Amino acid sequence: MNSVPTRHEFLYISANGKHLFYFITYLSLAIMAAQVLARSKLWMQGKPMAKPKEPQTLAGTIKTWIHHVLVYILAQKKVRGSRKTTGAPMHLLIFYGFLALTIGTTLLAINTYSPIKFHYGLYYEVYEMTLDVMGMAFVVGVSWALIRRFLSNQRQRPVMGHQWSDYWALLLLLVVAVTGYWLEAARISSTPWHDWNWVSPVGTSLGLLEGRFSPAMYRFAWWFHMSWIWVFFVTLPQMKLKHVLVAISTAAGAPEVEMGRLEPILMEEVEQTGKIGASEAADFDRWHLMSLDACMECGRCTEVCPAWNVGKKLNPQLIVQETRSALYTKASLAAKVTDEELWACTTCNACVEACPVLIRQVDFIVDMRRNLVAEGKLTGPATTMLRQMGSNRSAWGNATDREAWMQGHDVPLARDKKTFDVLFWVGCAGATDPAGIKTSQAVAFLLNKAKVDFACLGTEEACTGDPARRVGDEFMFQDLAGSNLETLKKYQFHSIVTACPHCLNTLKNEYPDFEDKLKVEHHTQMLARLANEGKIKRIEGQFTYHDPCYLARVNSESIAPRSLLNLPVIEPQNHGKKTLCCGAGGGRMWMEEDPGQRPAERRMEELLNTGSTQIALGCPFCKIMLETGVPADKSDQVRLVDLAVLMQESNGGME
Ligand code: SF4
Ligand code: SF4
Repeated sequence: MNSVPTRHEFLYISANGKHLFYFITYLSLAIMAAQVLARSKLWMQGKPMAKPKEPQTLAGTIKTWIHHVLVYILAQKKVRGSRKTTGAPMHLLIFYGFLALTIGTTLLAINTYSPIKFHYGLYYEVYEMTLDVMGMAFVVGVSWALIRRFLSNQRQRPVMGHQWSDYWALLLLLVVAVTGYWLEAARISSTPWHDWNWVSPVGTSLGLLEGRFSPAMYRFAWWFHMSWIWVFFVTLPQMKLKHVLVAISTAAGAPEVEMGRLEPILMEEVEQTGKIGASEAADFDRWHLMSLDACMECGRCTEVCPAWNVGKKLNPQLIVQETRSALYTKASLAAKVTDEELWACTTCNACVEACPVLIRQVDFIVDMRRNLVAEGKLTGPATTMLRQMGSNRSAWGNATDREAWMQGHDVPLARDKKTFDVLFWVGCAGATDPAGIKTSQAVAFLLNKAKVDFACLGTEEACTGDPARRVGDEFMFQDLAGSNLETLKKYQFHSIVTACPHCLNTLKNEYPDFEDKLKVEHHTQMLARLANEGKIKRIEGQFTYHDPCYLARVNSESIAPRSLLNLPVIEPQNHGKKTLCCGAGGGRMWMEEDPGQRPAERRMEELLNTGSTQIALGCPFCKIMLETGVPADKSDQVRLVDLAVLMQESNGGME
């Protein structure tokens, strides 16, 4: 008897049985590959990917692929950062259990089919123990997922599917794992006893419980287990489990672009196709189409969507599924996704941040909006905003008002200075909205106090075009971007500072598509530096702080605003990257909201739940929107105020 820990492969399986096994295994793998190939042909119907402005070398591209797979797939970065308290550990158990079983099976195959034999001794013991434990992690994770889905409440049901296919995928995984343990138990109880059997505690315990197995019973258990593995191979590409395969390619090839950047439409492309935006799935690019198949239907995107959470029809998971369905069926996007859903999006990117497989839902939504705008389907106040932007180059008020806020304040103009260190980009709200004006005056006060050499463009500044772009009027945006960039070229400066996170995002992440990169900062970033240098004082008093989506999530800045306060912030439930949208972005500021469906009310409720009525913020859009969410009985208690205004007060300036 062999006393070295190991096990026989193809125990009790005859030569003919082996041949049959190979035949069915290769056949099922071929069926799986054919289905994947058919899917990839669908993805190839999309447009070629846009060429990056700075093309990478082949070595650089491979390095990026490897980095993405390590971070997003192996380290499961996005899943670990999930807001779901139960979803993340459950998925991690399933993923790492599955990964261990896959690696284990591959090692076993190498040992069987290569001349190198290593499946014995200490290696064997570690191998068996690892697979036994990780197999249990897998079984627990899958069972957890099944129970969670079954027990999900009515609100979760549209997110967490209850079709037979939703249960089938999980049940299949469970059957494969459980029959694997049963097979292991059968092997242990049909072969002579060894003490080292205990390196597989689960299999051995089951084997002792089952009692003696005959070779015939072992053979039955073996074929039964293999049958489920073949079923798994054949049905994998049809189930949501296909994300196991597709997510690796999606992560590897994910474009290296900022969360807040939208892909420009090229005029040449419009001339060739006669089409603006997406009206059918093939109008998206190939990576975006592939990413649709990576969706695991986990519902994380919908769970965090501010529109969905106030009862609107928009469900980002459904947008992904319906767009995928349009790809498969060649139906028009309009037949799958309603205008109402598309207009409800605030482009807050909470869905993009939450998605574990890097799907960029906002790109799909804005591209479909572009088509709606081109078809004349945008109505209501947003069309007035676009008209105004076309005539006055401003989202609010009149372009000539852009210098009125400066009167009585020491605000140098670029046209008088020509050369300066910092360009203060004021933005439409900063120049024309009463609260925005107070913020602009406070920023100017603080820059003067810290002796920063700055200037403003005044009437030379136009809207960056952000609201137009996100509503779907791409060419209005490109027109404004072009004229602003021409203006900027007239002056010499080192960096831009702005108090508007939407201007920040557009200038920093989107203008570089048309010109060289600009160094752009949010005012809280510059003020934090000036405070660190001792040039201005920090804010006294305690506040809660509302993170603007386009600063904290889209541009990853949530530390600088907090550092302006001497006391720790009273944090609302959702903060930092996971902040809750006020409802203003994506042009929603200029769209009507039904009572009871206002994201601002929801966010205000959360901010007031901290117990504080003193709310600091760093975005003029958020300020305007959140004001509308203040409950009537609290309107004289709540103070919503920009950090710059608070800092002006701390530094001896008037509000
Ligand atoms: S961007 Fe925000 S509002 Fe739009 S679908 Fe995503 S989570 Fe919902
Ligand atoms: S799009 Fe992403 S977050 Fe939404 S259900 Fe699919 S995988 Fe989950």
